[in-house]
Formats: sequence, C-alpha cells, structure tokens
Amino acid sequence: MQTVDSINFKNKRALIRVDFNVPFDKNFNITDDTRIKAALPTINKVLNDGGSVVLMSHLGRPLKKLKEDGTIDKEKFSLKHVVGHLSDLLNRKIQFVNDCINEESHAISNVLKPGEILLLENTRFYKEEEKGDEVFAAKLAHHGDVFVNDAFGSAHRAHASTTIVAKHFSKENKAAGYLMAAEVENATKILNSSEKPFTAILGGAKVSDKILIIENLLNIADNIIIGGGMAYTFVKALGCEVGKSLVEEDMQELALHILQKAEAKGVKIYLPEDSVIADKFDNDANIRVADNTDIPFAWMALDIGHASIIAFQEVIKNSKTILWNGPMGVFEMEKFQNGTKSIAVAVAHATQKNGAFSLVGGGDSVAAVNKFGLADKVSFVSTGGGALLEFFEGKTLPGVAALM
Ligand code: AMP
Repeated sequence: MQTVDSINFKNKRALIRVDFNVPFDKNFNITDDTRIKAALPTINKVLNDGGSVVLMSHLGRPLKKLKEDGTIDKEKFSLKHVVGHLSDLLNRKIQFVNDCINEESHAISNVLKPGEILLLENTRFYKEEEKGDEVFAAKLAHHGDVFVNDAFGSAHRAHASTTIVAKHFSKENKAAGYLMAAEVENATKILNSSEKPFTAILGGAKVSDKILIIENLLNIADNIIIGGGMAYTFVKALGCEVGKSLVEEDMQELALHILQKAEAKGVKIYLPEDSVIADKFDNDANIRVADNTDIPFAWMALDIGHASIIAFQEVIKNSKTILWNGPMGVFEMEKFQNGTKSIAVAVAHATQKNGAFSLVGGGDSVAAVNKFGLADKVSFVSTGGGALLEFFEGKTLPGVAALM
C-alpha cells in the first residue's frame, strides 16, 4: 500500500475520503473536531504539492434516522456545517456542493484549480453508498485523478466511497493518507508484537462484542487482562454469584471455553479478584469493595477493586507491547473511575519509563485516556472503533485492501 508521500499531486485533483463524522451541539457547533484535525496533514500535503482537493465523507446515519414524513433530514445530516470550521483550520476558502454526484458537483470538481478545495455533501444521502453500488462509486471516482483514503474509521466497510471507488484508479493513482497509514502501521506493529511480553487489556460492557478479538488474541498475546462489565460473565462462569452485575448468561459456556483454550496455548488470562460494588447503577450509590466470591445478591460490580488493580499493574509493568481496548469499570461516573484511571496510568508508565509500545483504541478507552489527560503518554491512540476491532480480529479491512 503506497502512501501520499509517494505521489506528487502537482496539477492533480485528489479525491480524498475523510472521516468528518463529527458530533454537533443543537446549534450545529462542532463539539469534538479531532477527526477533522486528523485529516489536515493529508489535505495540506496535496495543497503544498500544488494539487486541488475534493473531500468526501459520511455524516451520521441519515437513512436510518428519517424525518417523520419519511424523508432524509438534509439539514441535520449536512456536511455544510463543517465548512466554516474546516475553512478556519486550513485558512482557505472551502467550496461546498449539496450533492455528491450530481452534474453541478462534477462541473465544479472538473475545473478545480491548484490550491482549491471542494467538499461534497454527505455520501450517505444515497442508499447506494452503504450498498457499495458500482455505478454510484464510478460517479464519485469522476471527481478525482488520484484517490486517497484517510478514513481508517470506515475502512472495515465495503461502501462505495471507502472501497468500491478505488477500483477506478490504477495502483499508482491511489494511496493511503497519513492518518490511514499511521493507523495501519501501528496496529500492524501490535499484531506482529515483535517485542514480548505482549499484554492485551480488554474491558467494556459485553463479552459478545469481544469474542472474535479474544479468539484471535489467543494466538498472539502472552497475557490477556479482562476487566469491565465483560469480566463478570467469566467470573460467574467460574462459579461465583455476582449479584446484579452485568452477565451475559448465554456466553458463559464460551467464556469457559476461552479459558480452557488459553491454558492449552499457554496464554495467561487475568480476571479481577475483587470489585467496587454498588447498591444501584448511580454515582450516588452506596459502595464498598468486595471479593468477587462475596458480592451480595442485590449489589452490582461497577469497577475493579484494589487487589485487581495491583495485580493488573504488575502485568502491565512487565510488558513490552500493550493493546488496550475498553474501560475497567463505569468510568463515566466518578465513583467507578479508579480502576480505569489506574490502568491508564500503568499503561502510560510502562510506555514512558519502560519503553513499551502501547496502542489504545476502540471507543471508550480512548475517551478514558483523554479524560485522564494521558493520551500523549501512550505510543498511539487510534481513531478507529469498529475498524480497529476488526483489524485485531484478524480480518482484512476492505478499505485497506482496495488500496493495494
Ligand atoms: P464498550 O463499548 O463495550 O467498550 O463498553 C463501554 C461501556 O462499558 C462504558 O460505557 C462503561 O461504562 C461500561 N462498563 C464498564 N464496566 C462496566 C461494569 N462493570 N458494569 C456495567 N457497565 C460497565
């Protein structure tokens, strides 16, 4: 897969798939512009070479959230709300067209001059986008001489603008943007885990969401730490009553199977020994620390306890490669954030003091390292949620494969 560094964009139109799927407040102010900022180096590379830029992205799920009259909410899901902020960040005028494949859009992209930028309207206003429709993709491809994909977060989808469009460009005329290249490079480094011991830390709500990734990690990790809500399915499967803690009853057998498989492969699995338990799912709940063998019927485990933290920290401290996905508890509430915070500190410490390579990715663990101000103390924070998980499940991402 070549990157944009291999291409001179002088007098070329780069059609760049970005991920501008950003959150807004009710007045359409962008509340987190991380994704927009992440695309700037690639856009600037094209502009600095003397090329022009056509940007395409999805925003939300307009076809799943239709208006009451059954039509698309073209105001709510319009990328026009991104124009002002993008223009400020690039210090350039941005042209916008309210359809991504109509005649007007092609008339504008056809005559773009070096240094000019055109943003196309939300690709998901067309059902053809998610279907990976060939004709729709061909119309998108018409906007550029070169195709650049910088939307790693959408690379697990074989949609028209992420994957199918690439068919219309020769190998020399398609490339990964800087964000995409960095994501793939860092995730590959983890997957190859050249430096051992390799510890994967998994948390979050559900075992069922993480089964495939655990199965794959059993082939490459030395240690797997399991915390968060998903741990209690394992704890219960091992015979502890866990009260009202989160348990996926139908996953217990699979949990035991994973533990057996890990033992056979020599992979150590670490589960919490104790938990912060609460009498309700609320920051005002009464709380105490209990061994997992001792959780009362009406209580629930909402964070890992002190003994678990110490045990997990010890494993992390001795690791050279670390992957972290998913919080250790309900870190959104102050009373239950200590486990996640302590693990974040341990990962940062292993990275800074022991030279470990650490990657944090896949949704809420990223929110956690940001919340605790530790994002710049780990080796890499991934922007890819589902895409990153599928990568670690061992799947080929169609958006990446399409660039080869
Ligand atoms: P996921 O999206 O699967 O990574 O799950 C993240 C969510 O899991 C966060 O919103 C956490 O609040 C939640 N979570 C973590 N630990 C627990 C727990 N022990 N009980 C209930 N929810 C939890």
